Amino acid sequence: MPNEKPKFYLTTPIYYTNGLPHIGHTYTTVVADAIRRYKRMRGYEVVMTTGTDEHGVNVERAAQKAGLPESEFVAKMAIAWKALWDELGISADEFVRTTDLSHVRTVQWLFKRCKENGYVYKGHYTGQYCIYDNAFVSEAKPGDNCPDCGRPLETITEENYFFKLSAFQKPLLDFYKKNPSFIQPETRKNEIISFVEGGLKDLSITRTAIRWGIPVPGEEPHVFYVWFDALTAYLSAVGGPDYEKRGFWPCDLHLVGKDIIRFHTVYWPAFLMAAMLPVPKQVWVHGWFLMDAAKMSKSKGNVILPRPIANMLGMDALRYFVMREIVFGQDGNFSYDALVTRYNSDLANGLGNLASRTAAMIEKNFGGKIPKPGPRLPQDDALVKVTSETIEEALEKFENFEFARSLEAIWAAIAAADKYLTSEQPWALDDSEADTQRKATILWTTAELLRIVTVLAHPVLPDSTAKVWTLLGQPGRVAAFELDGLRWGQLAIGVQLGKAQALFPRVEKSEAIERIEAMANEELNPAPAAPAAAPAHATTASGAAAAPAPNEKIGIEDFAKVEMRVGQIKTAERIVGADKLLKLTVDIGTEIRQICAGIAQYYEPEKLIGRKVAVVVNLAPRKLRGVESNGMIVAASVGPEGRPVLAGFPDEDVEIGARLK
Ligand SMILES: [Zn+2]
Repeated sequence: MPNEKPKFYLTTPIYYTNGLPHIGHTYTTVVADAIRRYKRMRGYEVVMTTGTDEHGVNVERAAQKAGLPESEFVAKMAIAWKALWDELGISADEFVRTTDLSHVRTVQWLFKRCKENGYVYKGHYTGQYCIYDNAFVSEAKPGDNCPDCGRPLETITEENYFFKLSAFQKPLLDFYKKNPSFIQPETRKNEIISFVEGGLKDLSITRTAIRWGIPVPGEEPHVFYVWFDALTAYLSAVGGPDYEKRGFWPCDLHLVGKDIIRFHTVYWPAFLMAAMLPVPKQVWVHGWFLMDAAKMSKSKGNVILPRPIANMLGMDALRYFVMREIVFGQDGNFSYDALVTRYNSDLANGLGNLASRTAAMIEKNFGGKIPKPGPRLPQDDALVKVTSETIEEALEKFENFEFARSLEAIWAAIAAADKYLTSEQPWALDDSEADTQRKATILWTTAELLRIVTVLAHPVLPDSTAKVWTLLGQPGRVAAFELDGLRWGQLAIGVQLGKAQALFPRVEKSEAIERIEAMANEELNPAPAAPAAAPAHATTASGAAAAPAPNEKIGIEDFAKVEMRVGQIKTAERIVGADKLLKLTVDIGTEIRQICAGIAQYYEPEKLIGRKVAVVVNLAPRKLRGVESNGMIVAASVGPEGRPVLAGFPDEDVEIGARLK
């Protein structure tokens, strides 16, 4: 079969579905998608798998909270995850749900093989158990309280199946030695080797206290526990027991965050070795996006959502930022400020501007047809050289997963083209034959550079590069262009430019950030009064777990969760760069809080001082325009523009700190 393409299989983690994706999940998945597109353009037949991990006690609880049967809850979550990936231009080939029948069968098959080979035995697991939540707390010690409900834990012993991980210390160490690139980046490898050298304990892989899981055949009520279930999804996605038919196993690349490295580089290869199945070729461990140097989490109120960013700046802007901003493998900081700055400088003023001005000049001078270039001058040769070097460097860096460096090289070429246009000044040339020929050379050269950077940037910016490709009137789809054949000089002469489409309109930074934050706040704290405004897919947001349907009644215990108190405004000031926000300090009886309120257009700060207001005091802190807001001032939203009118206590002398109930 001489024409068969080489195969490449890569995966993201199978994400746990008790919540919705934030920028961390988005990061891994965008990287996977870009690698998938890149490998296709390099001639591979690629399968990329992502999916949802739908079992376990946390899903059980989240479903209960949402008032749904588990199967319905996870189905909704899977739809929501898929919808978001679609919006971000991520086209996974396989989306595994761990509740899929084919996956269930694969897990049971893998278990059977491990058991037949003597690596599974029945034993007893002793741990700290919360009888109210029906769950073991894995990190707890005897005498600890439950981290969820605060009640005392009990030491309980249950019958479990164990996996003989201890038998794999030597095989794993041998494997790492024989496959030095299995764990990447290099720095992560030593951490794992010393962990394995320290000795491996057998692993409990089933539970009897969990109901929502894959049953161990003939051994009910045993269900598989977390990793034996979730990791196996990588294999189920490409055929499970019939993996040989599809020919995508072993996996070429697992992309994982640094918190799950051990499961992927120790447990997973050991499970596969025990079942006598091929082990994946590589696990690539990446860092995290941090907010003010802290890991993002919902409870800290510093979670960044992808959808508001994509809505405001376009999905390509989000994709570009996460791949350009941090070195793959290391941690990096996330800030809206850096995001919008990059958007304006690299996308609006960079790629977007180069495309639109080149097209406009070809339109004006050559009737929108790519002109035939005349003889080249040394400055033209210099640009040709830069571009040819860019092809080499951008591909080499991408191949090594140095995505930021690859994009840096591409954008250096864009900057070189801008400089070239500025110094050659085609707009200053006249209509004489010599000048027209010079103009043709300059514009053809610029358009050719633009074509090349468009091809190179396509894996990261699939949407906007497709638009530039159309604009340049190029044949076929840019996605189908073969990177190995990319050379200077392939831009066809005489073709008509396609329709110009808006690429990256410049945005005003503070306004853009304000709008992103407003959309994010709405997604995190959906307003129950405005259900019609929410797009259909957003109704399955994490809010689905907590917020009742609009007409549904809530119990008094739900209302009691919201702690509202009378507060008195002590100071009020405007926030530079945010025309809707006021920064307030509010006395709530027990303490003075800093709270941001979106009332700046309707209330003078000076006139608010001393005013008594209703404050939600147990809202998770969040940042608005970089200013921490610790609570919420209650206001009516009036009229179509949503004018805020503060709730207050004009007739009574209420005590500061009094609770509203
Ligand atoms: Zn508990």
